[in-house]
Amino acid sequence: MQVRVRFAPSPTGPLHIGGMRTALYNYFFARKHKGSFILRIEDTDQSRLVPGAEEYIFESLDWCGIEVDEGIREGGDFGPYRQSDRKEQYGRYSDMLVEAGDAYYAFDTPSELEQLRRDAEKKGKTFLYNASVRNKLQNSLALPEKVWKERIDRGEPHVIRYKMPSDEDIHFDDMIRGHIVVNSGTLDDKILFKSDGMPTYHLANIVDDHLMEISHVIRGEEWLPSLPLHVSLYRSFGWKAPEFAHLPLLLKPDGRGKLSKRDGDRMGFPVFPIFWPYGETAKGYREEGYYPDAFVNMLALLGWNPGTEQEMFSMEELISAFSMERVNKAGSRFDPDKARWFNHQYLQRRSNRDLALEYREILRTKGHHLDIADIEKLVGLVKERVNFVQELWQETDFFFISPQTYDPDVIRKRWKAETPGQLLELRGLLDGMDELTPDIAGQKVKSWISEKGYNTGAVMNAFRLVIVGTSRGPGIFDIISWIGKRETLERIDRGLALIGKETA
Ligand code: GLU
Repeated sequence: MQVRVRFAPSPTGPLHIGGMRTALYNYFFARKHKGSFILRIEDTDQSRLVPGAEEYIFESLDWCGIEVDEGIREGGDFGPYRQSDRKEQYGRYSDMLVEAGDAYYAFDTPSELEQLRRDAEKKGKTFLYNASVRNKLQNSLALPEKVWKERIDRGEPHVIRYKMPSDEDIHFDDMIRGHIVVNSGTLDDKILFKSDGMPTYHLANIVDDHLMEISHVIRGEEWLPSLPLHVSLYRSFGWKAPEFAHLPLLLKPDGRGKLSKRDGDRMGFPVFPIFWPYGETAKGYREEGYYPDAFVNMLALLGWNPGTEQEMFSMEELISAFSMERVNKAGSRFDPDKARWFNHQYLQRRSNRDLALEYREILRTKGHHLDIADIEKLVGLVKERVNFVQELWQETDFFFISPQTYDPDVIRKRWKAETPGQLLELRGLLDGMDELTPDIAGQKVKSWISEKGYNTGAVMNAFRLVIVGTSRGPGIFDIISWIGKRETLERIDRGLALIGKETA
């Protein structure tokens, strides 16, 4: 069988990372089985369309490295790939069902239906438009043929509803959840075709999956309740249904409920792949400094596991390791720390040269124009300490700017009566060297300390205080080697002058 899968988002706003994961799993599955990945835009609900959302979907897929085989931009033999461009065809299919007796016209107005819903609620029930009540309502099954035909001819607004069997066990299989049986008595007669001349999601989705020869429908768990209807529709049309796989939800970090934008806002992480620039704007992983391969790796493991300890996966590795059998049934908790951990890992794997090229951009905006070799050295000293390139500045600012203040805690703990004299001696020692290479300077300073019988910790901490201003940073000899002899001596002088004053 030729594997053909589709990712079928609705352009109603930014694409949630849960949707992004659905796209990824479809993509892995397609590539693994040498099949096709189709991108279909489901925009039949015109009232929910948001301008810019379609481009946002394209850009998000591109950023993640998902290559679409058939779609609006790519073309293909099964187009058009935007449902609003296919709208002429859907009416034919709902008419087919009406003719076969599997669907009917219904005239009930929104306010009539609202009333029925409220009446049921009063009795503590949920209103279902189905076999139990349809014969009493305004539709072509309840009304005499002459009457409903006249109402249609008069142009009265109406919808087409699916006639759900009254009491029938519907059996189907899900690749993740196994065999499922639902009795049709619990289901309602869903609208297939709306009074605005557009199909609903259910009709358009089934018709297009059939016409596009989709072999596997892989989508979010929120669509599982629609599956009995979809299976039933396939049967009514006499079409072979595709295989189905419903993916587990992405849960909040505490595991209680679905991950939402509000969780992200509250806890400071994005729930969208890239920045959403319209209306109420939203943060994106791309702009937060995530590498796309780190983002893909992190997301792939939320709901699927390889069955081994391996955590780092390239796109190729994900494609070859992925299998539907290893997709979890239970929801997957999103872990913002783990997301950062993944980026940390990918950042460590990048060459110092690549990181330097990225960091150079940030340094330029701060007015520091350096040789790439110098930035490379710098990046090599601190990269272990950061998760994102933009965090490099807070780890390296003191390489560029001599301390403006000195940490009072460190002064209190480390600045003793003998400190200025020791630092002056150290200044003299460093001044006598031609160049401050980390190894040689380090050895000389260490032997000077031991010859004099000084306390290493005391001297080195005071030294770091005058050079950095606090107790942070990489190896002190790496720092002084990078900033150079002149700057080192100046900082010692400045520290001696300023800290002396402060403590006096
Ligand atoms: N348009 C639906 C969505 O936005 C697609 C569901 C499906 O894949 O069938 O999620």
